[in-house]
Amino acid sequence: MLDIIRKKVSEGTRLTREEGVWLLKNASLLDFAELAETERFRLNPERRVTFVIDSNPNYTNICNVDCIFCAFYRHEGDKDAYTYSVDEMIPRFKAAAKRGVRTVLLQGGVNPAIPFEYYTEMVRRTRAEVPEIHPHFFSTSEIIGMSNVSSLTVPEVLLKLKEAGLNSIPGGGAEILSDRVKKKISNKKGTSADWLNVMREAHKLGYKTTATMMYGHLETDEDIIEHLSVIRDLQDEYHGFTAYIPWSFKPGNTPLEKIIPTYATGTRYLQMIAIARIFLDNFPHIQASWFSEGKKIGQIALSFGADDFGGVLEEENVHASANFVHTTSVKETVDLIRSAGYTPAERTTLYDIIAEYGDGEYPAAAIDTARLNVHFGASEILTSLPILQEAS
Ligand code: SF4
Repeated sequence: MLDIIRKKVSEGTRLTREEGVWLLKNASLLDFAELAETERFRLNPERRVTFVIDSNPNYTNICNVDCIFCAFYRHEGDKDAYTYSVDEMIPRFKAAAKRGVRTVLLQGGVNPAIPFEYYTEMVRRTRAEVPEIHPHFFSTSEIIGMSNVSSLTVPEVLLKLKEAGLNSIPGGGAEILSDRVKKKISNKKGTSADWLNVMREAHKLGYKTTATMMYGHLETDEDIIEHLSVIRDLQDEYHGFTAYIPWSFKPGNTPLEKIIPTYATGTRYLQMIAIARIFLDNFPHIQASWFSEGKKIGQIALSFGADDFGGVLEEENVHASANFVHTTSVKETVDLIRSAGYTPAERTTLYDIIAEYGDGEYPAAAIDTARLNVHFGASEILTSLPILQEAS
């Protein structure tokens, strides 16, 4: 079977689901690396790895979906629940832009107390008042929530957000696109078809989006391939996905921690990156996450098919809620890519190249290793969170 798969990958022929499952169950890590590298350089022949200077703030942590893998959300009335107004968010975007941030991935919980007009105002004012920032706002769950609080359908919500200036949305909320798993970990979040439907409608309107996967909990190899199959099929329809981004479940402070107390291994992550690159023959980019899996594993993932190193992540609160914090700087990001054997290139949200950096060259952005966790105290740089620093 491996020889058949090797031949198909070298010829650029699509793998079947059965072949994908076979690889997950039988291939060695080195087989994965070899196959993924073949496909990576077929799609992206240059030894270039991109990154984005970004920030992931949150406008609310109030949510009524109660996913059991989530440590981030609170209910209305909880003492540490928060919702920021548009007036409060815009100065944060302006301050981030001054420090060199170019992409803001903004998400919240699904807060039914927020009216739909809040979201369109957030987009419109970001475009008008902080033009340096590309708004990459609102997951599928929030878009479905917007539909629920308004009299609008999902396509109507997406159209109004587009008219306000939004043209890309993040791929969060997919977890595992298998209803067997979804029922267990996010029963109130809707089905796989719901996630795919929002993405399909967005792509129809010309949005670019990412696709994600959170693994390392109740899924099987078959569920992983089911997930990859359905996003590959959707990509064939409109080619609206820019990239695929897997990350592992972080159990800290979550109800699911009682059943799954440990992190997925580094080798499982490398498998996830490689199988995506081999199976998703119509996805231009696969993102390795230094943040979610550690800097060293992130670097190795660049030899398992990934061609993007994600964002510098000036602010991040979701993993931090699970006591999982990694930080970096723009300079370190460039150095990590370079020392892995690739040419670092800064990109836009939509994966257009801004600049490549040769030896000794760095972007001017002033993002340092301190992470902002603004919701814990306005504009404070929080130093009290446990930092999982890796040995250098
Ligand atoms: S993952 Fe998102 S939708 Fe689920 S509980 Fe957390 S904030 Fe809410």
